Amino acid sequence: MKINKNPEKPIQKQRATVQIIFLLLVIWVGIEFHLFAMFLESNGTENFYQRPPGAEGFLPISALMSLYYFVETGIIHFAHPAGFFILVSVIVISFVFGKSFCSWLCPIGTISEYIGEFGEKVQKKIFKRVIRIPKFIDYPLRSLKYLLLGFFTYAIFSMTVPALKMFLDSPYNLVADVKMYYFFAHISRLSLIVIASLFVLSIIIRNFWCRYLCPYGALLGFFSILSPNKIRRNPASCIDCGLCAKACPSLIKVDKVKTVISDECSTCFNCVDVCPVADTLEYKTVFKNIRIKKNYIALAVVGIFVIITGIAMLSGNWQNNITKEEYLNHFKKMNEYGHPTSTEEIDKLNQQAE
Ligand code: SF4
Ligand code: SF4
Repeated sequence: MKINKNPEKPIQKQRATVQIIFLLLVIWVGIEFHLFAMFLESNGTENFYQRPPGAEGFLPISALMSLYYFVETGIIHFAHPAGFFILVSVIVISFVFGKSFCSWLCPIGTISEYIGEFGEKVQKKIFKRVIRIPKFIDYPLRSLKYLLLGFFTYAIFSMTVPALKMFLDSPYNLVADVKMYYFFAHISRLSLIVIASLFVLSIIIRNFWCRYLCPYGALLGFFSILSPNKIRRNPASCIDCGLCAKACPSLIKVDKVKTVISDECSTCFNCVDVCPVADTLEYKTVFKNIRIKKNYIALAVVGIFVIITGIAMLSGNWQNNITKEEYLNHFKKMNEYGHPTSTEEIDKLNQQAE
């Protein structure tokens, strides 16, 4: 049978470029935060470095609380506004273009992808095949991230607005980014063992963290299911070669479905890129079946992120308004700020900080 060859160029190079740019951006934020922490450690005697607000992207729980607070009150909480806007942009991206944040922008997703590719090469060399977890283990493991997400969302959404505000105002939350920095800068042996284990597991099982444990990915997976745009297969022209399923890092059986409806699909386009037949595997709107070019999606994913974070910057909602003196003050007492689990404990913390 004569087939019409797929004329579209692969998009993986562009995706890798976007991934590397965002990874470098995160490394840059990390370096800036380190300089800010040096200033705090010097008790304000060394040069002052502005705290990079982008670090708040690593405070998803605080951001989710801010989002809930915003929904309830219409107010963007002052502590971590950048985290709030980053979360909003990522949710919008997931709602429009599926879990594309994971395969285009997320630095953990990028590292995880490279470790996974390395692992698969090693496995092919040693075992002549790639290790796949059996379905009866894979499914229960995949639910773990939803259990974690359920735990956090229940804890947050069962809070009253005054309790939420109390937590967001608490010194624990105000310096959550500094605490997070020290978690990694002075990592404990146990945390190091956990991270090393995740690294090894990611070599053995591709995307171990993202597939089984990341609650952020679970949240985005939920929104991605609601997305009106999906990968669609045209069974009439499909030659059943199975290349798409083989190329899918999320192990989705693309060749067996008409529309990919999966919380694991990260809109990476590996499947679309390898499909040899024209007009057979495409990204389309579900309702009107309109094809969307891969290039446009790449631009739109980055564009949504840049526009929403840009709005935050232009509207003065990127930097928080905590002064360096307040940071220095909190920094001195930071080790006393344990994670409060009740309003009484938050109250005690607030008094401690005064
Ligand atoms: S179905 Fe296609 S786009 Fe979705 S994760 Fe698999 S390869 Fe990527
Ligand atoms: S890559 Fe997938 S969609 Fe494309 S022809 Fe082969 S089986 Fe069909």
